[in-house]
Amino acid sequence: MASSPAYAKFHKLKTYPSAEDIAGMSLMSDTDTERLREKIIQEIQRLKLDIQRLVELTSPEALEDLDEVSRMDAIVSKSVHDASLGLARRRLGKLEYALKRIGSDPEFGYCAECGEKIPLVRLMSMPEALYCVECASGAAGERNGR
Ligand SMILES: [Zn+2]
Repeated sequence: MASSPAYAKFHKLKTYPSAEDIAGMSLMSDTDTERLREKIIQEIQRLKLDIQRLVELTSPEALEDLDEVSRMDAIVSKSVHDASLGLARRRLGKLEYALKRIGSDPEFGYCAECGEKIPLVRLMSMPEALYCVECASGAAGERNGR
């Protein structure tokens, strides 16, 4: 006999994972994924508005019609705004990356350092997080410049 029924059964089991097997492998429920995706989209929209506002505040034209004192103030705040703008742009990049990965990258939601699941609470407040709290705050995180 080339293939016994027992072998066929075994072979079939090993080759085709059931729908439940596949569902069990995914990180989050569809609802969680949707909520998180919504959250990322909202954050991106909010950040884009922030960036737009900061770009206006840091433009050279913003200094033009000011008197001497206001101009001094504006120059000081400009450096603060420049820093905020840099941070906002970096975060936007990370959020867009998270949006690209969610639902398609099976490693999304897992810590890039230790491989543990990043808790959903953390992802909801910081969807761009690549590391769990321990790794993000630990020596390993600092060593790698995070
Ligand atoms: Zn970790």
